[in-house]
Amino acid sequence: MPTGFFLTGTIFLYNEPHRFGGIRMQCNECNKELGNQLDNEHLYACCGLTLQEYALRHHLPLDLLLHADQVNQQDDAASYIKPNNSSNQQVQDVLAGLYMADAIKKQGDFTFITLGIRRLEQLLWYQQALQVIGFQFKQEYFYENESHRVLARNSIKVPTSFLPPRIVNSSDESFLQQIAVLIGHIGELHTGYLFIDFPNTNDAQRVESELANKYQIRLAPLDVSEHEKGQLMRCETLEDTSRLISLLSEYLQDIPNACERFFEQHEEAIVVKELVFDSAHFITDHPDKCVNLHGGRYAMNVKVKDHIDPLTGFVLDYGYLKRIAKEKIVNVLDHHNLNYVAAELSWRSSTELLNIFIWEKLIEYLPGLTELQIYETSQSHCTYVGPSLDELQKKGQSALLRYFVSDELGKSKLRYILSQSSQRRLKIIG
Ligand SMILES: [Zn+2]
Repeated sequence: MPTGFFLTGTIFLYNEPHRFGGIRMQCNECNKELGNQLDNEHLYACCGLTLQEYALRHHLPLDLLLHADQVNQQDDAASYIKPNNSSNQQVQDVLAGLYMADAIKKQGDFTFITLGIRRLEQLLWYQQALQVIGFQFKQEYFYENESHRVLARNSIKVPTSFLPPRIVNSSDESFLQQIAVLIGHIGELHTGYLFIDFPNTNDAQRVESELANKYQIRLAPLDVSEHEKGQLMRCETLEDTSRLISLLSEYLQDIPNACERFFEQHEEAIVVKELVFDSAHFITDHPDKCVNLHGGRYAMNVKVKDHIDPLTGFVLDYGYLKRIAKEKIVNVLDHHNLNYVAAELSWRSSTELLNIFIWEKLIEYLPGLTELQIYETSQSHCTYVGPSLDELQKKGQSALLRYFVSDELGKSKLRYILSQSSQRRLKIIG
């Protein structure tokens, strides 16, 4: 039992509120006895925390802190008052950025925007910007059948009928405010490169062309979006990223939490995803039995090193790492003959060249890629550390992979001389 917390009731269930009785609570922040309920009203006055933050700070399950009637409450749109103030430019720009981020959701009578508890300050910044049209901050608690737990949802909400019509303003200043909100909401920095997974392809194209035309900042489209109709974009180079961040600096610095991601650097860590694929291959001109077609189960470790994102606590979401590795590598190699997958592997599908081939594919999506390991058998494996994305962009694809695809092949001086020779010494038999 955590100190300062008294529970004298019996086991309770949320669908049996009558069994929820006899609880006495003391606030761990101010040590006041509170009868049987600790609520946001008390906490806000006593320490400024929300109940969910209080639960985290004192490592208590939310379920134990909440009274049954605080859970699964129905919010009533009639309790919201429509302000007389009309919308202003900042409201329009913040909403436009959040629409692009697909952050504005509708459910029942309400339109709402949610963010996790670590980004509460950011949500409160939205609240401050949008309160003139009647948004209210709510922390609501739901019993979730699947997880058998009470979960909290932090959102700012407004009855949908209060919402102003969507207006597109494309002045320079509005554009910068809108993309700062968009990037503040869904932009991620990986090893100095900004990634934005646009939920809507049209927005991606509009932002890409506006940034290119007005500011000479390039976004590179990547073909792996989490959204069905989306478009993942990466600032093409390190320089494009730093120019975009400095262009938006004044706007991003203003958005709490979001600014941590772009202007702070935290500890580094390495995350590893292990993948397997079954492939066949042969080694051209090998003097021994490797010249024969043979196959097996390859295992691959993809290692990514980066600063830990303060807003997620992750270097990278393992789900993203898995999605990239699966779509870009496993789906291409699994149940294939490696020699026929790509010209780069047709001569030598050795673990060494396979590593370089995979490295060059993955680094576009995973600029923090720090090491690749490929196990051809449990006893034979090859480790590779390749160039950074910046180095690769500057020096191009590996010469080892380029030999048979190079334009130079077949154009040597020697072949030219031999082809001119009257004796036609270079003769292709067949
Ligand atoms: Zn208190």
